[in-house]
Amino acid sequence: MAWDFQTDPEFQEKLDWIQDFCEREVGPLGHIFPHAVRSPDPKVRELVRTLQQEVKDQGLWALFLDEELGGPGLGQLKLGLMNEILGRYPAAPQLFGAAAPDTGNMEMLAAYGTEEQKERWLTPLLNQEMFSAYSMTEPQGGSDPNLFKTTAVKDGDEWVINGEKWFTSAGRVADILFVMCTNGMYVVPRETPGVEIMPKPRNHNHIIYNDVRVPADHLLGPEDGAKVLAQRRLGGGRIHHAMRTIAQCTLAFDMMCERALSRESHGAIIAEHQMVQQKIAESYAKLKMLRLYVLETAWKIDQTSTQEARTDIAAVKFTMARVLREISFDALHIHGSLGTTDLTPLQDMYAAAPTMGLADGADEVHKATVARRLLKEYRPHEGYFPTEFIPYKREEAWKKFEHHFAADPGLRESAEAYRKYVEKRR
Ligand SMILES: Cc1cc2nc3c(=O)[nH]c(=O)nc-3n(C[C@H](O)[C@H](O)[C@H](O)COP(=O)(O)OP(=O)(O)OC[C@H]3O[C@@H](n4cnc5c(N)ncnc54)[C@H](O)[C@@H]3O)c2cc1C
Repeated sequence: MAWDFQTDPEFQEKLDWIQDFCEREVGPLGHIFPHAVRSPDPKVRELVRTLQQEVKDQGLWALFLDEELGGPGLGQLKLGLMNEILGRYPAAPQLFGAAAPDTGNMEMLAAYGTEEQKERWLTPLLNQEMFSAYSMTEPQGGSDPNLFKTTAVKDGDEWVINGEKWFTSAGRVADILFVMCTNGMYVVPRETPGVEIMPKPRNHNHIIYNDVRVPADHLLGPEDGAKVLAQRRLGGGRIHHAMRTIAQCTLAFDMMCERALSRESHGAIIAEHQMVQQKIAESYAKLKMLRLYVLETAWKIDQTSTQEARTDIAAVKFTMARVLREISFDALHIHGSLGTTDLTPLQDMYAAAPTMGLADGADEVHKATVARRLLKEYRPHEGYFPTEFIPYKREEAWKKFEHHFAADPGLRESAEAYRKYVEKRR
């Protein structure tokens, strides 16, 4: 029977290398040059290239693509375990060629791009010679794609795009923008005339697309295929994101325990106070539950498909934001006043929780999807009472036992006596 929670030793060696490399190189780099990969400084870029070469030499560069998309096809479970390590170091995903939003955009290109489009955009994105952004949300509505208005109109050999997008992460510094229109997904070079980036918000950009002309071959996938392509971006990506969130929760948990053992109050170290112990015990259980759930979902994707695992992917998506919020809050609280400052990562971690509940779609929308999909497996009961109504169950059981009773009247007497005893006790 296959039911195993161990990592095979060969892959564990890779994970150990990643852990060591991140601790040794990536962590310190992130404290000195937080955005090293995008730095215009040639010296910093050289530093980054050297580290990335080490990753490539280990065969660990940009491993997120499935085999049929030209990647190594590692599978979501292994990618999940890798991301659990990377998630502790903000700079790590980019140093391993596996940072959003590029990964999702590359997945769309790999799955739907023509050979020519792949050569033009996928290869440079994989090599980080180019960066991308994803323009889907609009100012008038994000959760409901039926409210989106941005459209592309064919004019000779060109598409003309008009519309307005909101919260395009890193749009300002992207080379190409993947623009979701009501009639397809388009690749728009950021410097195309008519692309106007508003000064605010600074990191998640408000972009006006005003008569933006792109050649006909900048349509990615089929016309009217935007929603299908948008789904494609998110499957495995959500698992990686969840495992990186688990890394953050683990960091908060480690900090919580260390601090609880290091401070005193009212005659005891604070770890000896029961309310502190409750926070530690509950955080541990939440972390374990989330981790097992995410890994099981990754395993399910590997056994079936992202489509088959959709309910669990959506459930993971809203659960991770809650667990991060609760564990980072408790860790912050146990750190007292220090926890409220920016001298530890806890404040940022706690602030990230509501953000996480919105990025990739509001949690409420995912909860509604999960409930709708689960309810499809059920039917309403007939009559006034539910299937598990105990008198119904008892009646069925009596019928089932009738032949035993017929064969052995003594057994019937025992059953009758027990029934009377139970009825008397009610
Ligand atoms: C950090 C971050 C990065 C992002 N990056 C990108 C990006 O790169 N590209 C991009 O296109 N977008 C991006 N987004 C936008 C994200 O996709 C949207 O925020 C999300 O889809 C929600 O849309 P909205 O913000 O317009 O909220 P709204 O749709 O206005 O929803 C607001 C609130 O209304 C409630 N609500 C909405 N619908 C329902 C419902 N059906 N049932 C119950 N309650 C509901 C929920 O409480 C929800 O939080 C990013 C968002 C964040 C926070």
